[in-house]
Amino acid sequence: MTSISHQHHAKCPRCGSELVSLEWDEHVTSRQVQDLWHCWKCQNEFITVEASDEKPPSDAEVTKPFFTSLVME
Ligand SMILES: [Zn+2]
Repeated sequence: MTSISHQHHAKCPRCGSELVSLEWDEHVTSRQVQDLWHCWKCQNEFITVEASDEKPPSDAEVTKPFFTSLVME
């Protein structure tokens, strides 16, 4: 089983087929993404809600280690 991290695959709830393609995705909140899938087998369209990978800006971003790399000539 290979793990393609970003493109999570959905399964059609009607026929159970994995022959689905992502039609679009949309952020419903800052933490949730709604995906619209299209099933090629039964032409069903369904929506899944995924947790967004986007992390809120953390303090770690601001408090970077201070480098005192002075170039001495
Ligand atoms: Zn289907």
